[in-house]
Amino acid sequence: PEKVMHKLVSLAKRRGFIFPSSEIYEGLSSCFDYGPLGSEMKKNIKDLWWNAMTRRHQNIVGIDASIMMNPRVWEASGHVASFNDPMIDDKATKRRYRADHLIENHIEKLRRDGKDDTALKVQTAYEQASTAADLNRALYDIIIAEGIKAQDTGSGEWTEVRQFNLMFQCGMGALADKASIVYLRPETAQGIFVNFHNVRESSRMKVPFGIAQIGKAFRNEIVKGNFIFRMVEFEQMEMQYFVKPGTQAEAFEAWREERFNWYTSALGINRDKLHWYKHDKLAHYADLAYDIKFEFPFGIEEIEGIHSRTDFDLKQHQEYSGKNMEYIDQLTNERYIPYVVETSAGCDRLFLALLSDAYSEDVVDGEPRISLRFSPKVAPVKAAVLPLLKKGEMAEKAARIADDLRQLYMIQQDDAGSIGKRYRRQDEIGTPFCLTIDHETLENDTLTIRHRDTASQERISASSIREFLAAGMV
Ligand code: ATP
Repeated sequence: PEKVMHKLVSLAKRRGFIFPSSEIYEGLSSCFDYGPLGSEMKKNIKDLWWNAMTRRHQNIVGIDASIMMNPRVWEASGHVASFNDPMIDDKATKRRYRADHLIENHIEKLRRDGKDDTALKVQTAYEQASTAADLNRALYDIIIAEGIKAQDTGSGEWTEVRQFNLMFQCGMGALADKASIVYLRPETAQGIFVNFHNVRESSRMKVPFGIAQIGKAFRNEIVKGNFIFRMVEFEQMEMQYFVKPGTQAEAFEAWREERFNWYTSALGINRDKLHWYKHDKLAHYADLAYDIKFEFPFGIEEIEGIHSRTDFDLKQHQEYSGKNMEYIDQLTNERYIPYVVETSAGCDRLFLALLSDAYSEDVVDGEPRISLRFSPKVAPVKAAVLPLLKKGEMAEKAARIADDLRQLYMIQQDDAGSIGKRYRRQDEIGTPFCLTIDHETLENDTLTIRHRDTASQERISASSIREFLAAGMV
């Protein structure tokens, strides 16, 4: 798996998908820049999500809220008090671990070793733990008392479990006092909750309805790593769906199905690499939660969470802001604070999932090649226009075709090197179609289309390329 990740990271950099941030200064931990192809592809992902989650639903609208919000928002949401990761340090190696991850790994290890009784005991204590002190007990009283080293490589000499808040703070304005602290939002959802009435009124929405948003979120993650899987600055694609209390289970099921299908039908991700995970240990605001997980080279990990958030957030905002957050059903005159079903996906994680799902090595014409088998909708470059000759009529014809297609799609025009080399370059960035302009093109206005995955070719009339590409984008 390390080898696969190494190949992905190096291809991503070489071809301009993803660069380490501020690389000439040795970078910054867990920060990355999307290059020309990366930013194009990320935009495709966001557009596909936006279309699926807003335009295709009569009752879902989008917003774009500010990253910085009144700090009271984060008191109401519970993030100031409890958006913490429990951390524990190995005194000998000075390495820092997440206590919950340690415990989960140990439960798994106990099961593998056939110690089911102990595993169950640890699991029960862990599920009931809500504070750092509880986790301390789960770790010390049970794991350590059972005589198991907390980490195979570690000394077993640990600090207490401590809570680290994941929110970034900054100071707004000239005064450096506590009153001027603002946070970088750790999730986009709160921008939607606080705008509940603004959106409802201005767009005349009736429950059930949804509000969708794509935007940056920031988390001061202590344990980083795995390329763009866990970053401190990342992009979320979230939708909060407001429903009548009592109907959340039904809405939850519908969204669960729709979101899962999106990954295969809209993005072309291999169905076998997607998995469901049901949360047994729920966040303070949730009454039901599932993750959609993907088989990354380093393990099966979350790409999207689907959460039934109850009326927790709107209720909190009602209490903290003093503003009424109720919805009035105009037909029945019922008043209630709506329940929320949320779908929360990470754009960067999804990017990495698409990259690793698409990566392929095979042999074509006796030569090994690397290709990225993106769905045409996801691929950063939709088609490459390749004239056999650099100059003259052929080049002019190629330029005309490329310019025409550029009105609709991201196109590359390439005349450098042998045609075989140019195909390989396009394979490596995932371009689904190569259009070759040759002598015959000048004679009968046809050109060759080469398909990335099969390397097979067909001739079509130049006047039908637009149609051909449109059919390929479905
Ligand atoms: P994890 O358990 O991996 O930290 P989470 O359960 O805290 O994730 P949520 O709060 O549910 O994540 O956030 C929704 C989505 O946002 C996740 O499914 C993931 O795709 C994305 N996400 C969360 N944290 C990060 C991060 N540090 N870097 C990149 N994407 C992230």
